[in-house]
Amino acid sequence: MNKPKIAVIGSSSMDLVVTSNRRPLAGETVLGESFETVPGGKGANQAVAAARLGADVYMIGRVGDDPYGTEILENLKREGVHTDHVEPVTHSKSGTAHIILAEGDNSIVVVKGANDYVTPDYVNQARARLAECDLVLIQQEIPEETVIETARLCKELDVPLLLNPAPAREIPEAVIEQVSYLTPNEHEAAQLFEGETLSAILKRFPNKLFITEGKAGVRFFNNQEEVVVPSFPVEAVDTTGAGDTFNAAFATAIAEGKLLFESLRFANQAAALSVTAFGAQGGMPTRAEVEKELN
Ligand code: ATP
Repeated sequence: MNKPKIAVIGSSSMDLVVTSNRRPLAGETVLGESFETVPGGKGANQAVAAARLGADVYMIGRVGDDPYGTEILENLKREGVHTDHVEPVTHSKSGTAHIILAEGDNSIVVVKGANDYVTPDYVNQARARLAECDLVLIQQEIPEETVIETARLCKELDVPLLLNPAPAREIPEAVIEQVSYLTPNEHEAAQLFEGETLSAILKRFPNKLFITEGKAGVRFFNNQEEVVVPSFPVEAVDTTGAGDTFNAAFATAIAEGKLLFESLRFANQAAALSVTAFGAQGGMPTRAEVEKELN
């Protein structure tokens, strides 16, 4: 089988993770327990997940001209993601997420850095690449204008677009019309379509709006009724990256021509496996691991 070609337009960053017994109060200094740097960002996470699942992945993103940028690029290359469209931004830092894990909860400060330079013009520079892809996958950790322009461009090029609207923000109705697949989780769906009931919005976008519901699976409207494709029961260790794995797997399956229900089952299985290990990219399964469970 030919590998499906997927372009992932999105963020990449370095997560700087501190664990501490206690969260410092304003103006206070505490001693932490450990420190780790882990490559992340929804774009890069989804690119890595899709590559592990057997897609030929082209990342379209930006890093800073700092050592984190080099590490982010090396990580993508190690995972087999094509990085010819990941250009370092001069005089900008890479995107970073500053995470404190303390008292059983996390506090996060995200600095967008070079991800702000994933502009509409930058995406248009990769137009020829997008035109030869089976599907384009995009999230919202990059400027809003870029998402809007990508939706327009994919329509023009007749390439299906999967928009994972995370983190949530308002999306113009015209953009929703242009995308092929929209995959909010329950909280994002509630924010996106404020004032409407879940059933009403699902009905408005049959076979386009897929609301992920954690361990329950994914809900959508098909053939005049609301349906849920259930997830697979697993011992959840760390759900970070479940959404990223789900989106990458759904994109890969659709891009290679699997039917809708089969694609959602594949995505649920991949995402279920991802929650059985620590970390976002740490838990992302390979194609063989997903197929072993499905067979
Ligand atoms: P996250 O932000 O934790 O990465 P999310 O909030 O974007 O995830 P969810 O709806 O929680 O998205 O999960 C996405 C998909 O992952 C679900 O549709 C399901 O397939 C799978 N999943 C999530 N949690 C579990 C779980 N505990 N057991 C099995 N599958 C799960």
